[in-house]
Amino acid sequence: MDYGIIFKGIGGFYYVKFNDSIYECKARGKFKNQKITPLVGDYVRISIQDEDKKLGMIEEILERKTELLRPTVANVNQAIIVFSIKNPLPNIILLDKMLVLAEQSGLDIVICFNKADLDVDFDYEKYEAIYHRIGYPVLKTCALEGEGIDALSVYLQDKITVFSGPSGVGKSSLLNAVHEGFTLQTGEISEKIKRGKHTTRHSELMELKNGGIVVDTPGFTSLSMHEVAPEDLKEYFIEFRMQGESCRFDNCMHLNEPGCAVKEAVERHDISKDRYEAYLYILNEINELKRRQ
Ligand code: GDP
Ligand code: ZN
Repeated sequence: MDYGIIFKGIGGFYYVKFNDSIYECKARGKFKNQKITPLVGDYVRISIQDEDKKLGMIEEILERKTELLRPTVANVNQAIIVFSIKNPLPNIILLDKMLVLAEQSGLDIVICFNKADLDVDFDYEKYEAIYHRIGYPVLKTCALEGEGIDALSVYLQDKITVFSGPSGVGKSSLLNAVHEGFTLQTGEISEKIKRGKHTTRHSELMELKNGGIVVDTPGFTSLSMHEVAPEDLKEYFIEFRMQGESCRFDNCMHLNEPGCAVKEAVERHDISKDRYEAYLYILNEINELKRRQ
């Protein structure tokens, strides 16, 4: 059976890409009764109502693999987290928070340091090594001159990707570079976000020339740790899970418990002290949020 994918939704109409065409579809009433709203990113089975006018009806929604909340998009399976090596300088705690949120959403992750043409005045090699060692691909790119763009392009193939990262780091420029002729204007992603505060703006999917699909609004911008439970945070620091030996206590929070394998690994430098400190920092922030609630 062939399925389409919802690229865009406006006022009860869904624009479904199916067999290389876009069909304007309505959803069967049964979804409303079941309290299911089709989402951008949903894989759907459609019946074609009018082939010439490209009109269709959504008959079935496939089970979602993932569901992001901000932006609300189904089936995203990859986050590309972009920082620039300069202008603005990377904020590593922000990177660690975005990693937590992307891990919580169950996404594959690529870290991208853009603006490789500028002089580095932070310890790029150190951070490159930290994240590479725990299993994240780390790319150094230049959207202006093309360094790393082919590598980025390969990661975008066959995926539904959300870009994430502060404004001004070059997210739109990177998309333009991957997909020359890409219709987004530089700065447009952030413009849309700003407008989104006043009008309801729904995210759309965009197909790149290499076949990859990207969400047109950045993800994890709220950096809200509200939905991360303190006891779950450690699961999203992937290197904490990969320790050979385990902690003495199953529910170890890796704080001051005796026999903590994570703390021992930090002592041995098998886990980066920076990452462990980021864990403590974010855990403290989550606990503060809980206290204030
Ligand atoms: P976004 O807010 O993350 O989408 O960032 P933009 O793509 O709008 O880029 C912000 C600014 O950084 C623009 O002035 C771009 O021209 C500039 N920029 C983007 N990529 C690079 C790069 O690789 N090198 C340099 N030097 N500037 C870049
Ligand atoms: Zn522990």
